[in-house]
Amino acid sequence: MESRGTKRGAGKIEVAEPWNKLPLLAPSLPTNPALYAGPFPFYRRPSELGCFSLDAQRQYHGDARALRYYCPPPTNGQSPNFDLRDGYPDRYRPRDEEVQERLDHLLCWVLEHRGRLEGGPGWLAGAIVTWRGHLTKLLTTPYERQEGWQLAASRFQGTLYLSEVETPAARDQRLTRPPLLQELMYMGYKFEQYMCADKPGGSTDPSGEVNTNVAFCSVLRSRLGNHPLLFSGEVDCIDPQAPTAQPPSCYVELKTSKEMHSPGQRKSFYRRKLLKWWAQSFLPGVPNVVAGFRNPEGFVCSLKTFRTMEMFEYVRNDRDGWNPSVCMNFCAAFLSFAQNTVVQDDPRLVYLFSWEPGSPVTVSEHRDAPHAFLPTWYVEAMTQDLLSPPKTPSPKD
Ligand code: GDP
Ligand code: MG
Repeated sequence: MESRGTKRGAGKIEVAEPWNKLPLLAPSLPTNPALYAGPFPFYRRPSELGCFSLDAQRQYHGDARALRYYCPPPTNGQSPNFDLRDGYPDRYRPRDEEVQERLDHLLCWVLEHRGRLEGGPGWLAGAIVTWRGHLTKLLTTPYERQEGWQLAASRFQGTLYLSEVETPAARDQRLTRPPLLQELMYMGYKFEQYMCADKPGGSTDPSGEVNTNVAFCSVLRSRLGNHPLLFSGEVDCIDPQAPTAQPPSCYVELKTSKEMHSPGQRKSFYRRKLLKWWAQSFLPGVPNVVAGFRNPEGFVCSLKTFRTMEMFEYVRNDRDGWNPSVCMNFCAAFLSFAQNTVVQDDPRLVYLFSWEPGSPVTVSEHRDAPHAFLPTWYVEAMTQDLLSPPKTPSPKD
């Protein structure tokens, strides 16, 4: 591993200034919420550029085949009675989490659509490409007290790519995940099955398998401050009866949470869980999160729709609450920090940004395996374009 501090002093011009003799401090980025208060930064209304699906074998398809349709139970005064533990573990096909997919599926979509991205030729070169989930982690960082993260960054043909690296602590936790936690993860997916149909106007089928290889991903364009963004996020379902049929406004995020009985439980839910729900759905412009509240026996007995744009109201007057401006200002600051750090355009060069709660974000420099994440098939196809640019698409394409 090369350390970042050593090379920067190697400037060509020798100036006999005292500061030139001081040891160079490695750059870092603080994460204290107080530093990021202030007005909400510019965030472009996210627009959907396209989508893709992953099938039961985790194979990529450049279409919406895995999209499901919101199908809530009838609201005839009765409460739902979804048994979230039904089918566990015999009708559970969990995705193999040992496979590190990095940005591969998103890059597959970018490669397929690079010649006809809105924003025109050159837009991609100024953009940041990543998963929505990585941006969610950045948004919640100023308030996170438990889990750190690592993000790998490479610049290639101008574009800055950000791809998460599993921390050793996260890997340990995954490999020693208690059986109860594994079942809780299943229950979240099982709730989706109770709430979604495979066809618009169709019915749900809770007798089927829960296969978490299957995913529908929306690809979105936005901009935070002066950072154009292209990111993709998994979408749970579309509401065929939404007031606006245009994605992402018609998408619905589904969540489960423990039934709450005391004011203390509610306060903690608003402070912790609602922050994560807000960050995840605000980024892609998903307007509603439908929560299923489960009792200790694992049955969902009540549903509640939370409007993404109203989630902040639950903590607005809470001194220990979260603030959307802090989340977005920190994210913008991190993106500027990354843009200024990753200067060299080289798909084999990786800057690893590391963060642990209570510390600033630090950075280290790496080359090739194991941290390089832009696949050869992507780099080669994009490089071929420069040698023989693709034809401008005709209106017929
Ligand atoms: P989320 O917001 O954290 O759910 O993540 P995204 O919506 O950004 O998902 C991006 C891609 O990562 C999709 O293909 C998801 O299926 C996949 N994904 C989501 N969560 C996880 C996870 O915990 N582990 C792994 N390996 N992949 C995940
Ligand atoms: Mg969900």
